[in-house]
Amino acid sequence: MKIRDAVDDFSSYDSGRREAEIRLDKNESPFSLPPELKSQVSEKLESLSFNRYPDPTSNGLRGKLADFYDLKPGNVVVGSGSDQLISYAVQLFAGNHAVIAPPTFSMYRFYSELAGLEVKEVPLTNNYDLRLKEIKEVLDGAAMIFLCSPNNPTGNVFARETLIKLLKTGKPLILDEAYVEFSGESQFELIEEFENLIVLRTFSKAFGLAGARAGYALAHGKTAEKLLRVKPPYNLSSTSAGIAKVVLENYDVVRERIDRIIDERERIYEEFNEFAVQSKANFLLMDLDAGKYLGSRGVAVREFSGRLEDKIRVTVGTESENDRLINNLNDFISSKVD
Ligand code: PMP
Repeated sequence: MKIRDAVDDFSSYDSGRREAEIRLDKNESPFSLPPELKSQVSEKLESLSFNRYPDPTSNGLRGKLADFYDLKPGNVVVGSGSDQLISYAVQLFAGNHAVIAPPTFSMYRFYSELAGLEVKEVPLTNNYDLRLKEIKEVLDGAAMIFLCSPNNPTGNVFARETLIKLLKTGKPLILDEAYVEFSGESQFELIEEFENLIVLRTFSKAFGLAGARAGYALAHGKTAEKLLRVKPPYNLSSTSAGIAKVVLENYDVVRERIDRIIDERERIYEEFNEFAVQSKANFLLMDLDAGKYLGSRGVAVREFSGRLEDKIRVTVGTESENDRLINNLNDFISSKVD
């Protein structure tokens, strides 16, 4: 038996999940669904025919998303989390390599290499901004560019003008907006003008449905239609689609929670602005090597290797979780000064 090199070289995805009292390591929403939404979800699930396959393209959810964004269902493709849509998008475009701008989300490299593409890195600047000129220099023969805005793990957004300049090169741009609800600066309207843009979104973060596994891509009708061709027919379960629909129909609850998370993000930033990158997401990158310290006090945060080795990424939690984070980080800082 011979395993393909691309697979043999990977270790299976380690989500880094460790036991802890307070989980601020995965950029999840700290809020479970409120009871009234849980009962709506239960009702929805009771109405489903589990013996039947779901609609192959999840038309119900596509339609709801299209209405929500004032688009057409033909602009929307749904999947089991946006991870799955990354894996489909990577199969769509011809070329030899994918371009990524690290530090960024690890799955762009993972799926590109799995699809047999070489990966060319154009690292972000010291301020975590894009190097437009250098990106343009590696576009010859590129299948696609992957960018994430707000970027995970740095939390900053990239300027619309820079993204437009990249789109004008004609190369496919897969723009991951997993955290966009916390920034209010989406670029999805650009799909009308640029057929080479695919915007990826998820229900896992602002919508608080990481466990339900639902994500979607927004793209020009012609591009979305191509994406549908590489998608297996029943990639989103009727259960996941049903849950996502209920939550989308109750966006006021989601919005209120987003606002709370943004307020809390700003509170944490004010406290540690010497160390933190200003963020437009639900997490903050901090120049504090406090991962082990916090871990030993029951607070899990994301640690890194390589360029971000001495930094941590903290997800914004509930008010009381953040109090505990802030107290522990202040203790950590004082322990360094003493
Ligand atoms: N994109 C980014 C930038 C992410 O950080 C994540 C989750 N960590 C995902 C996509 C995957 O999200 P989903 O749960 O929708 O697969």
